Amino acid sequence: MKYTKQDVLRLVQEEDVEFIRLQFTDIFGTMKNVAITSSQLEKALDNNCMFDGSSIEGFVRIEESDMYLYPDLDTLNVFPWRPQQGKVARLICDVYRPNREPFEGDPRYILKKVVKQAAELGYQFDVGPECEFFLYHTDDNGQPTTITHERAGYFDLGPMDLGENARRDMVLTLEDMGFEIEASHHEMAPAQHEIDFRYDEVLTTADNIMTFKLAVKTIAKRHGLHASFMPKPKTGINGSGMHINMSLSKDGKNIFADDCDPNGLSQEAYYFIGGLMRHVKGMCAITNPLVNSYKRLVPGFEAPVYIAWSGTNRSPLIRIPAERGEGTRIELRCPDPSANPYLVLAVCLAAGLDGIQKQIMPPAAVDRNIFNMTEEEIQEEGIDVLPNNLLEAVYEMEKDELVKEVLGTHTSRRYIKAKKKEWAEYSRQVSGWELDQYLYRI
Ligand code: GLN
Ligand code: MG
Ligand code: MG
Ligand code: MG
Repeated sequence: MKYTKQDVLRLVQEEDVEFIRLQFTDIFGTMKNVAITSSQLEKALDNNCMFDGSSIEGFVRIEESDMYLYPDLDTLNVFPWRPQQGKVARLICDVYRPNREPFEGDPRYILKKVVKQAAELGYQFDVGPECEFFLYHTDDNGQPTTITHERAGYFDLGPMDLGENARRDMVLTLEDMGFEIEASHHEMAPAQHEIDFRYDEVLTTADNIMTFKLAVKTIAKRHGLHASFMPKPKTGINGSGMHINMSLSKDGKNIFADDCDPNGLSQEAYYFIGGLMRHVKGMCAITNPLVNSYKRLVPGFEAPVYIAWSGTNRSPLIRIPAERGEGTRIELRCPDPSANPYLVLAVCLAAGLDGIQKQIMPPAAVDRNIFNMTEEEIQEEGIDVLPNNLLEAVYEMEKDELVKEVLGTHTSRRYIKAKKKEWAEYSRQVSGWELDQYLYRI
């Protein structure tokens, strides 16, 4: 615990904060908030702020709609982009039912439950994400387009990199908010960028991803640009991933490292990989939640397709970055930044723990580039593939008891129903591709 209630009240007064935004996240990963003035802060800190949950996606029916917001005091943060007089701060909240029970449709609660299970086994879960995004122009009405005038590529710099100023401003703003930014760079595709912040304990990281996206979008707008975390905005060029770097520690020591192993990995690390590989298909509807997510998971654009791991190759689903010792980690490369970070990290941790508890050994590492292998070779190696589309992913999720258990009945039911509806709507659309292909010759 960083702050007490008294600290928060004092800080808000000292900093001249006028508005406090009470934030939470719906099950699809959209941030929501209600603003209060500082006169209402004490009431909010006593967990007495209510809101109507019925209009929030994936929340509750009309008859049982009143919810309480319980602010997490440690998440107090002042928005650097708002006026410096009469400032605006935020508190991230947990959602509770009127009977003062935690609300099972709150993604933060879902993550906290898995974190608690890990803690009971003596583990702390640390996570560092790599968020990629596009910076596009807006049109005369301020609406986002997919237009960019820049043609820079991986690690290019200004004046070719036209997003450089915006990106620098994002980094400085995030630092103002307490982020430790480790790297930021132009990515492969024109107008594509990546900003990496330091790993932290999993709940903090999930909160940070939400804050990160808000800050990046806000600063982009200030530069007349639109920041999009859509996984694959354009056919034929790289999409945006949100690679997840994970490690477990016990008594403050990273337990994924083992000097005696040829790969430098411990037994727990292997089992963790084994658990991820067993559940990844069932997790995909969470890690890759949109119809569009599956347009990214195709060969040729540095995104994973095959379910394999490697210590050397950069292309597979699971990669072990070269760093060892305290920096030893497992990188899962399928998640994309449109996903709900609380749910992504909850299913990752649960899958890894399942691997440890059931001692699931992963298959041998595949150090060849799978994309250069023939169909027969891939089959001979017994390499499976990720779901082809959102519907397949939803079916896989329905089959995975662990994933459903992590989400709980309330959330998994609503989630599956909503994703099936999304797929049904999409599959009824006649696309430009179909007209191009069929209209003239059929
Ligand atoms: N953009 C790629 C993806 O979709 C990753 C590229 C990279 O970071 N090497 O995951
Ligand atoms: Mg990276
Ligand atoms: Mg990258
Ligand atoms: Mg990476």
